[in-house]
Amino acid sequence: MRIDLHTHSTASDGTDTPAELVANAAAAGLDVIALTDHDTVGGHREAVDALPEGLTLVTGAELSCRVDGVSMHLLAYLFDPADAELAQARERVRDDRVPRAREMIRKLRALDVPVTWEQVARIAGDGSVGRPHVAAALVELGVVPTVSDAFTREWLGHGGRASAAKHELDPFDAVRLVKAAGGVTVFAHPAAVKRGAVVPESTIAALAAAGLDGIEVDHLDHDAPARARLRGLARELDLLTTGSSDYHGSRKPIELGACTTDPEVYGEITRRATGAFPVPGAGGAVRR
Ligand code: AMP
Ligand code: ZN
Ligand code: FE
Ligand code: FE
Repeated sequence: MRIDLHTHSTASDGTDTPAELVANAAAAGLDVIALTDHDTVGGHREAVDALPEGLTLVTGAELSCRVDGVSMHLLAYLFDPADAELAQARERVRDDRVPRAREMIRKLRALDVPVTWEQVARIAGDGSVGRPHVAAALVELGVVPTVSDAFTREWLGHGGRASAAKHELDPFDAVRLVKAAGGVTVFAHPAAVKRGAVVPESTIAALAAAGLDGIEVDHLDHDAPARARLRGLARELDLLTTGSSDYHGSRKPIELGACTTDPEVYGEITRRATGAFPVPGAGGAVRR
């Protein structure tokens, strides 16, 4: 059983539509895929409706959080999408991405890059707008060769000349909200140092005490020593450990199923969740 619990679609900053994503996941031989777009559940309906036979969908989202000035991502699975308090929190983060993108554009224009909001909005489409969309505009303009090349201090990376902050949730609030909505939480790529500062282990311990369910260990942004350290920490704190691709379609050079989650851990996640249930694929016919 191959299980990939972290992917993005055009509902945020991936390049596959939700329908394309589930088709590609089935073609890649996956049995379970989680759709975890940034701060939105906007892709779920389309993914469910297009779900191929033999593929199971775990609904989720990746919530933008910040603690003690450090940004971090919290994967939330199988929560009730209608839960008002959590929906409101997601919406606030998502909405604030627009003025934040405009601020990045303003800074880029001050650096003589002729990017416009219209261009970024066209690239983002209906998706929750983020740095990868602004980065794609920089690629279009010939400023950088690839999206990844825009994630530097020169441009949009951590502390970059054209970076800008967005509203982010307190992760302790986020864990509480997701739990109240019947969901399960996993700290995404907690040791991805190339993205900027990471939260200290003491904060992971505090989050565990506050109800965090697990940490993502097998992720391409973690090298072998980081994975070993995280596995030890998870044992110490009694946290689940997951693995996933963090697939973004063609915007990142990562394949679906690049890392996967142990079936027993997946089973435990589904047992803990009460807000929603995994959706078994029915070959396009809607089963709810
Ligand atoms: P945002 O939430 O708008 O700040 O954008 C964060 C997203 O940018 C992440 O989820 C990744 O998809 C992407 N990202 C972060 N660092 C890199 C990188 N070095 N190369 C490519 N994409 C990145
Ligand atoms: Zn992303
Ligand atoms: Fe992330
Ligand atoms: Fe992600």
